[in-house]
Amino acid sequence: MRDIGCSEEEIFSSFSRYKEKDTPYHRILSSMCTRPHPIAARAHAMFMETNLGDPGLFMGTASLEHLLIKRLGDLLHHHSVGGYATSGGTESNIQALRIAKKIRPVERPNVIMPESGHFSFDKACDLLSIDIRAIPLDGNFRIQVDQIEDQIDQNTIGVIAVAGTTEYGIVDPVRAVAEIAKDHGLFCHVDAAFGGLVLPFLDQPVPFDFSIPEVDSISVDPHKMGMSTIPTGCLLVRDTAHLSLLNIPTPYLTVKQEYTLMGTRSGGAVAGALAVLEYLGRSGMRAVVSGCMKNTRRLIDGMDAYGFAPAAWPDVNVATFECPRPPAGWHVSWTRRGHLRIVCMPHVHREMIEAFLEEVGEMCA
Ligand SMILES: *Cc1c(COP(=O)(O)O)cnc(C)c1O
Repeated sequence: MRDIGCSEEEIFSSFSRYKEKDTPYHRILSSMCTRPHPIAARAHAMFMETNLGDPGLFMGTASLEHLLIKRLGDLLHHHSVGGYATSGGTESNIQALRIAKKIRPVERPNVIMPESGHFSFDKACDLLSIDIRAIPLDGNFRIQVDQIEDQIDQNTIGVIAVAGTTEYGIVDPVRAVAEIAKDHGLFCHVDAAFGGLVLPFLDQPVPFDFSIPEVDSISVDPHKMGMSTIPTGCLLVRDTAHLSLLNIPTPYLTVKQEYTLMGTRSGGAVAGALAVLEYLGRSGMRAVVSGCMKNTRRLIDGMDAYGFAPAAWPDVNVATFECPRPPAGWHVSWTRRGHLRIVCMPHVHREMIEAFLEEVGEMCA
C-alpha cells in the first residue's frame, strides 16, 4: 500500500487502462451474465451502502428484499413463498443442500442429480460432505428419470432437477423427478438459476416451478436473465420453516439469528433486481425473452445452414453446436463434451448474431 495516497484522476486514468483489457460485452457470446439494465444500475447505486446482513438497521431495504422474494414467488406459482437474496446460484444451491441435510440427518448423505448438474453442487457437496450420485442423460441431455430410483438408498437426502442446464439449456422433466423424490420422502430442489427468469416468459411455458406440488425449493438468479447487477441470486422455499432450519444465533446484530450463508450482504443488488422486474413487468420480460429465443433460433438455423448441426434442442436461450472452431475474436465457450456453446443473452443483439454468422460463412468459404 502507498504511504501517501494519489489523486483521483491518477486512480481513474489507471483504472480505465485496466478496464480496457476486459472483453467488451459485444464480443461475449459465452456468458450467462449480461450488461445490467440501466434501471438496475441506478437502483444499485441508490442502495450501495446498505447491509442486509443487519436488516434491523436497513428496514426499508429489507422490505425491498421481501418484495423481491414475493414477486419471484408469484411468478413461480407460490404466493406464500419463503426465501432470500443470495450472492448467486452457487450460494442458493449450497443452502438448498444444507436444508436437505438438516431435514434428513444421516451419517453418509448422498444426493441424486443429473450429470448436467452445475459445478456449484461439487462445491456444495464438498463443503457439506455429501456424495453425488450423477444420473446419466438421454440423447437430448435430459436426466434419465428411470435411472433415479436405483440410486436412492437410506442415505439419500434429496433429488435435484435442473431447469435450464448451464451447458445445453435443457429443462429436466421436473414433475417426474419431483414425484420420485416425494415417493421416497425426499427433498426436491430445482436449480433454475438460469431458466427461472426465462421459462415463465416463454410462449409455451415448460412446467418446472412450485406449480409442481412436490418441488420444495428453487434457485433463480436475477444477475443472469434478470439483468440485475452482480451479485444477485435468490433461494426460494415452499415451506418457510425449512429456512429456519439454517438459523444460527447472531449475538451482536439487530436480529437474533440468521439463516443466510453470507453475513454482510449488499442491498444494492437486491434493489437492482427488484427494480428491473417492476420496471419491465411481465410484458417487458416476455419481450426480452422472446428476442433472446428468436436470436437463439436464428443462430441455430444459420449454423445449420453452414453444416454445423445443433448439439441439442434447447428449452432456453443456450445454443450448442458440432463445430470445431469459431471465427477469431469472439468469446465462445465449450461444453465438457466438446460442443461449441453460445448463450444468447440480452446483450447479444440480432446484429451480433448476423455478424458472427457472416464470419462463420467466411471461415467455411
Ligand atoms: C449459473 C448457474 C449456477 C451458478 O450460479 P452463480 O451465480 O454463478 O453462482 C448454478 N446453476 C445453474 C444451472 C447455473 O446456470
